[in-house]
Amino acid sequence: MQTEQTERQNAKHKKAMQKQKAKVDARIQQAQTERGLVLLLTGNGKGKTSSGFGMVMRALGYGQRVGVVQFIKGAQLSGEEIYLRDHCPQVAFHQMDTGFTWDTQDRTADMAAAQKTWGQAAQLLAADSPLDLLLLDELTYMLAYKYLDEAAVLEAIAARPAEQTVVITGRGGGSALQELADTVSEVKEVKHAFKAGLAARRGVDF
Ligand code: ATP
Ligand code: MG
Repeated sequence: MQTEQTERQNAKHKKAMQKQKAKVDARIQQAQTERGLVLLLTGNGKGKTSSGFGMVMRALGYGQRVGVVQFIKGAQLSGEEIYLRDHCPQVAFHQMDTGFTWDTQDRTADMAAAQKTWGQAAQLLAADSPLDLLLLDELTYMLAYKYLDEAAVLEAIAARPAEQTVVITGRGGGSALQELADTVSEVKEVKHAFKAGLAARRGVDF
């Protein structure tokens, strides 16, 4: 049997939920525009690339056409790369064919690699691109190092097909990119296991 206090709490909760529902419903009513989005996942915490690949999976679930371009390729293979290459041959997948910049320390070679990779991304952003979703993983670093021309990159993203969504990951990104993006999320580091001496793990970190 419910006590009087529980009944009061339940009634209060129900009223609060009704109020909340009315607010959410009103906002849903207002959100009428339908088009592809630009999302920027930035910040110094862990979770940007994994979130981007989460959206890749979502889109694939609906049979949508997806592309992935990774702008920093480490020596480390990733689980998402293995999975997409083995099980999703329909996904357009490109990677920059050089190691991390602090490995190569060769600015000219890195710039050339960045330009080449951008060429592949640009094709996937072009007016005739069939893609519903394009992940540009770690693109922000190419802008920060000035390996790519920011104005040209922003222009290509802005001119993409109207229904195409673009997800950009990486720390920073600059104010112009933030301005262009419809959704910007900052993943903030509160703690990272690596800093406590825990090694990066398969299936978790790569
Ligand atoms: P993830 O790929 O796990 O979603 P991310 O894309 O947010 O991470 P990146 O800066 O691209 O982060 O770094 C990728 C790798 O570095 C991952 O192995 C991740 O666990 C690790 N990493 C991310 N953030 C931090 C951090 N703040 N300190 C130490 N290592 C980090
Ligand atoms: Mg990342």
